[in-house]
Amino acid sequence: MTSAHHPALTALLAQFPGEATLVQVLLRRRAGGFELRHADDAEAADDALKLVTAPELRALAQFTATGAFRPLKSAPNLRRGWRVLAAGEADLETALHILYPGALADWHAARAATPPVTHYRAFTERQTGMYRVTTMLEDAAAERVTRAGCDRRFCLKQRLWTVGALAADSVAGKSLVPCLEPCAILLELARKAARIEQEEKLTLALAPSDGATILAALEAALGQPDSGVREGDTGSPANPRRLLLTLEKLRPLFDVPPAGKSAE
Ligand code: SF4
Repeated sequence: MTSAHHPALTALLAQFPGEATLVQVLLRRRAGGFELRHADDAEAADDALKLVTAPELRALAQFTATGAFRPLKSAPNLRRGWRVLAAGEADLETALHILYPGALADWHAARAATPPVTHYRAFTERQTGMYRVTTMLEDAAAERVTRAGCDRRFCLKQRLWTVGALAADSVAGKSLVPCLEPCAILLELARKAARIEQEEKLTLALAPSDGATILAALEAALGQPDSGVREGDTGSPANPRRLLLTLEKLRPLFDVPPAGKSAE
């Protein structure tokens, strides 16, 4: 059996001596090593799952079941139907890195007395060029962007960074794997949101019933399994994160609590 001597992996295995769920992956000790499989396949018989190698796992982690590229590996769209056997810690570390790059190190870092978290304001302050505009979002708008961009329907990392009065995510609400600073997809959504804030506004009078219909239509669109829009394409009004961002803006107007606060 090979050994990685990776302190983060050693700490994880010590904390979860039997099995652990990392985002959507179930890690189990098996005779002679470890096994990884999709957590939703926990009860599947071994021979019902395809045994894959590390290169096959890499290809599998790149695309969703419908063939869409997965720019964010922590998105809740990892394919099912496979399992990986790791002969030792080095193989296990390789497989985990393929599935969730940097997750082990981040999990370990987050356990420090002072976790290396970079919050929205500090993160955007150091942006230059086209992303500098993200500093201009006021707290309420930055909170909306964060609720929309980091919603669990798009990402299962436990967001530890915050902005304004927004609380960090819980492990129960997301997963064991922490997010220590805004990612590229969140930053792109913030850039687009800042540009939208700068647009001249329309004035629209709506009856509450019309508002309810708009909210229902946005929820229905968000419920579609595949929007056909690239995750990072925030220029598309049909981008699911933009749909949720608009929902976040409209909900207070119709007395509906924001996401995660039991709307209806
Ligand atoms: S910034 Fe949000 S969407 Fe991006 S990895 Fe972190 S929690 Fe996920």
